[in-house]
Amino acid sequence: MRLGLITALSALLWTSIAAAQPAVEGRWTLVIHGGAGVIERDRLTEAQDSEIRTALTEALETGSAILRNGGSSMDAIEATVRVMEDNPNFNAGRGAVFTYDGDIEHDASIMDGTTRSAGAVTGSTQTRHPVTLARRVMTNSPHVFLSGSGADQFSAEQGLEQVGNDWFETDRRREQLEAMRAAETAGLSDYRADFKYGTVGAVAVDLNGNMAAATSTGGMTGKRWGRIGDSPVIGAGTYADNRGCAVSATGTGEYFIRVGVAHEICTQIRVRFEQRLAEARASVPMDGDGIPEYYVHASEFGLAESDIQEIADAVLAEMAGLGGSGGVIVATPWGTGTYSFTTPGMYRGMAGSEIEASIAIYGDE
Ligand code: ASP
Repeated sequence: MRLGLITALSALLWTSIAAAQPAVEGRWTLVIHGGAGVIERDRLTEAQDSEIRTALTEALETGSAILRNGGSSMDAIEATVRVMEDNPNFNAGRGAVFTYDGDIEHDASIMDGTTRSAGAVTGSTQTRHPVTLARRVMTNSPHVFLSGSGADQFSAEQGLEQVGNDWFETDRRREQLEAMRAAETAGLSDYRADFKYGTVGAVAVDLNGNMAAATSTGGMTGKRWGRIGDSPVIGAGTYADNRGCAVSATGTGEYFIRVGVAHEICTQIRVRFEQRLAEARASVPMDGDGIPEYYVHASEFGLAESDIQEIADAVLAEMAGLGGSGGVIVATPWGTGTYSFTTPGMYRGMAGSEIEASIAIYGDE
């Protein structure tokens, strides 16, 4: 009887530790996005369509190679986002949108789901790869979030690659700013400059079961007054927690901030997992001493892809209910990847040890 009690107590302790770490080791997954918005077949030329697919494929392959070879999810997402920051098709790094005053100000963030360490920058103007700056804030400063000239100064002190602000400029983005200004002059207050946002993000789980998320953007065309969107806000545009998931968002940032979209999705996943695990354990038959006949280990148990889809869709519906729009990518400790978006399309891709690599643009793909 006494032995039974000790067994029961140690099982209780063991199961509560196990419950904290649902990760299944030995599987890797990478999910990427290059922005959500009004992305429809008749709005992209064939050449643009194929350029975007090539760019997404290159980014997906970069991160996949790292994960496949046993690299960390943090290294994989940083490298993936850097590739997209260098590609002028996306609203991040080179090719980012202009502010109202005709400058380019980057926002980026990164989060490590193992330690829940995070780094973010807003309004950086001269760092070639803002995602790397965000990671340095995480690893080499005592802070989580740096802004403006301070972020620029920290970046230079860290020896990160510096470029002139005009290095990020593209004609396409300048035309979008001019169109926005012209619409403003014409009194079209609800005009939205080319609603294909182009923010980039990556989420991953590596072979050790560690989760990570990163997002990088120029924000919104014509932003002013030091406007900050969701992308660099931990919990809104980016979140990673080994107990739940990794999320990167894109869309109307103000609404994602108000809902705390990325954190909300991870929390709902974590809580639903814990509930299901408790239910599974409660259904285990007891022996004559009232001791469960076997224990359901957290790592043997996971949420189904349909659960993740349902949670992500519900949180996005809540955001859309407030008036926003956009999408998210989600990776889970169980090696699944999920997209959810309220817009007609989202530039996106997914690959994994158990997932065939794929790229998509439109909502019906
Ligand atoms: N979420 C970004 C922002 O509000 C924009 C985007 O996703 O494209 O700054």
